[in-house]
Formats: sequence, structure tokens, C-alpha cells
Amino acid sequence: MKKIIDSMSEGKEVFFLCNKVADTQILTQEDIDDAWERLKRFSSYVQSAFPETKATGGIIDSPIQLINETKKTLSADIQGDLYVKRDDSLAVCGSLKARGGIYTVFKHAEDIALKSGMLKISDNYEILNTPEFKKLFSKYKISVGSTGNLGMSIGLSGKTLGFDVTVYMSEEAKEWKKNMLKKAGVKVVEFKGDYTSALKLARSEAAKDSNTYFIDDEDSKELFLGYSAAYKTLVEQLNDKGVTVDVEHPLIVYLPCGVGGGPGGITFGLKKFFGDNVYCYFGEPTEMPCMALAMAKGEGDVSVYDIGLGNGTVADGLACSSPSILAYNVMKGMLDGCFTIEDEHSLALSRLLYGTSGIKAEPSSCVALGGVGKIPHSENATHLVWLTGGSLVPDDEWKKIGVM
Ligand SMILES: *Cc1c(COP(=O)(O)O)cnc(C)c1O
Repeated sequence: MKKIIDSMSEGKEVFFLCNKVADTQILTQEDIDDAWERLKRFSSYVQSAFPETKATGGIIDSPIQLINETKKTLSADIQGDLYVKRDDSLAVCGSLKARGGIYTVFKHAEDIALKSGMLKISDNYEILNTPEFKKLFSKYKISVGSTGNLGMSIGLSGKTLGFDVTVYMSEEAKEWKKNMLKKAGVKVVEFKGDYTSALKLARSEAAKDSNTYFIDDEDSKELFLGYSAAYKTLVEQLNDKGVTVDVEHPLIVYLPCGVGGGPGGITFGLKKFFGDNVYCYFGEPTEMPCMALAMAKGEGDVSVYDIGLGNGTVADGLACSSPSILAYNVMKGMLDGCFTIEDEHSLALSRLLYGTSGIKAEPSSCVALGGVGKIPHSENATHLVWLTGGSLVPDDEWKKIGVM
């Protein structure tokens, strides 16, 4: 691993398989099922507050799509089908953060509403979309530190419920994301520093006020569990497409990683369901490979600055200098491998994906596409790239990176 870390510190693209260590059992299947039940309870509210979710019954979810045209053009040597999971198009905030972020806001809202006596667990949760509940939630504050997309998911869903939401945005955060939040009535604190320091500021501000619920991206079980329920509908989607997943037909999943909560939660759920028949790989930008560094070193408390990296990336959703310790601790027992992708490469992949399949996905998303073919797997394997952001990005941003 020393050689891998040396290559990483030189900013080179790397790929390695992880040495898995014993599972520490921090979270369980029951935790995932509990999260899934909660998401189902909220589905009537979601349909009422976000009518675009009617087609998926108020569950915020995305389809899978075969992209064999893209596969032909990728210089990747794989035999099986190549699919993408379209979380780039998730309702409400157009990124995978709709899974973890919105779930966390729902959990908090449910706790408050149940405690107030205004809601019973057997109620139709559509009643949460009424002035009485907005008034109740308006007495509570939520805060979060974000590179952009987490702030969008928590800001937009929290505000819709009625919460008083503050988002601490790090320097990578795009102007259009800040503007969209301000328009929705979310307080945006612009911070001239990287993501890890924006988070520190948000955390210390929240600690001063007992009425503020701080959603800690580096250490939130709720965020993690919101993501982990993703496999529940993926299983049906694979069935519908006639994709078999078993020992002879493994499923190979490529996920872009920032702090690791999103891809970690998804991997946790997938591994619980498919066991050893699913292989999961995390992709990161060469400048911010915090989880790869943690996995290579065998410890979660690392920073990319320690190996002379951290000079920013076009993959703004992945611009994290240190991983989530929670995500690291769960992943060290199950993650199959890590790879890193140069900015020029992920930009080229964004253009290639658009040119061959018409899909506009943020460079952060396309980092995952760079992993396809790096790892040899049987010709019976099905490959799935988890796209994570894109649908709300304005046209001039796409034009800037040559997509469109
Ligand atoms: C946040 C984000 C990720 C990664 O999620 P983490 O929980 O930070 O690992 C990937 N892609 C996009 C577009 C994101 O916004």
C-alpha cells in the first residue's frame, strides 16, 4: 500500500483492492428496515408536497438505464451489460443527497411531530403538509455544512416542511446552488474555506443553540441509513430488466465518493442483500481521495493535505479532504476497492456519456464511470454505475464543461 499512497500523493490515478477487516456491526439490517418503513410512512406526504414523485408512489427514487452505446465508446474491456442508476435525476434536489439528506430531515420532523402529540405513527402523513405542522416545525432550526448538494437536499426539504434552515457552504459550492436556496428562503452562510472547515464552523455554531439540529455529514447514522435503503427498489428494477444476480452473475457497482456516507450507505444495503454476489468500488478525484487514503492506510482519521493534495477539483460534490469516520468504519469490512480519476478524465467522461447516451451528469457523477473495466470480472457480470447528480444544473454550467 505504500506504493499506492506514493502514487496518490503524486496526483496519479490509482486503483487497488481493499484488505477487508472484520465487520464491526455498527449498523444492522433492522436499522435499514426501520429507515425504509419511515420512508414509506412519509410517501403520502412526499406525493402531496412534491407532486413530481407521484409516479414512484412518493418514494424518491430513480430508474436504471442500459447504456451499452456508451460502453462501446469507453475504452473499457468489459463483456457484460452496462447500466446506470439515474440518481442524477432524483426528485426535489437532483442528486443522490435526496436519499440521505431528505430522510434525515424526515426523521427529525417525525420525532418532533410525534412528541408534540399532533401526529400518530398510524396517521396518513399527508397532514404534515398543512399550516399547523409548518407552524410547529418553524420553531425548530436545522443546520448543515455542504459543498452544495447536501445543502440543497436539506434546505429544500426542510424549508418545505417549515423548518428554519441554515446551510454553511464551502468555497466549492456553485453560485446557482446558493441562489436556488436563498430563493427558497434558506439562510446561506458563504464560507471561504474548504468543506471540512465549513463543517467545523457549522458544528460549533450549532453547539451554541440547543434548538438547532446539526446534520453532521461526517458522523450521521441517519444520513447513512437514508442511503442504505436504496437497494430495496433496485432489486425490483434489476428483476424487471431480467438481470440475475448470483455467484455466477455478480453485480459490479461503481460509486463516486466524497465523505463516503452516500456510497457507503448504498454499499451497506447492497452487501446486506446480495452478500458476496455484489462488488462495490468507490471512485474519487485524484486531488481529494480521502476514502482511498483511509482504506490504503487502514485508518479513518486521515486528511488528503497530509500527502500534499487537496487543491480542489471540478468534481465539487466530492471535494472532501477527510472521510466520514462512520462511513469508513462500516466500509472497512466490506468495500472491495478504490480508484481515483483525474479532473480531465472525469470531464471527458461527462462529455462522452452525454454524446453517447444523452445523459447530463455532473463530473462528480462521472468519476464513477472511470472505474468501469479497471477491475477484471467474469463476462457474466452486470455493471452498474451510480450516477449521483445533474438534473438541476443550469444550461450555462453544462456549456462551460462542453456538455451540450
Ligand atoms: C455528495 C455527493 C457524492 C458523494 O457522497 P458522499 O456522501 O459525500 O460520499 C457523490 N456525487 C455527488 C453529485 C454528490 O453531491
